[in-house]
Amino acid sequence: MAEETIFSKIIRQEIPTPLLYQDELVTAFRDISPQAESHILIIPNKLIPTVNDVEEEDELTLGRLFTVAKKLAKEEGIAEDGYRLIMNCNQHGGQEVYHIHMHLVGGQPLGKMLNI
Ligand code: 5GP
Repeated sequence: MAEETIFSKIIRQEIPTPLLYQDELVTAFRDISPQAESHILIIPNKLIPTVNDVEEEDELTLGRLFTVAKKLAKEEGIAEDGYRLIMNCNQHGGQEVYHIHMHLVGGQPLGKMLNI
C-alpha cells in the first residue's frame, strides 16, 4: 500500500483547506505556494502515487481531472487567455507530493514551457 500524503487529509478535510470543487472522484483546492496569479491543484480522491502507477481502471477519474480543470479555468476567468496544466512525475519531473495532481496555472503569461 502506498503511503498517504497530506493530500489525503485535505480530501477528507482532516486538514481544513477551502475546496474549489469535490465530487466522488476528484478534489480541487488552491496551491499553498502559488507559482502564478492562479494556481490550483486538481487531484484524484484515490491515492495514486505517480503517473507510473496509473491503471486502466483510473481512466474515468483521470478524465475527470480535465473536465474539472476546464470548469475551474472558466470560473477563474482565465479560460480565454489560456493556462497550463502540469503533472510532475518522480525526481526528474520535480514531484514533491506522491499523490498525483494536476496543476492548473494561469492568470498571466507563463513564458516558455521549460526553463532547464
Ligand atoms: P509537485 O511538485 O509534487 O508537482 O507539487 C506539489 C504541490 O503541492 C506544490 O506546488 C506545493 O506548493 C503544493 N502543496 C504541498 N503541500 C500543500 C498543502 O498542504 N496544501 C496545499 N494547498 N498545497 C500544498
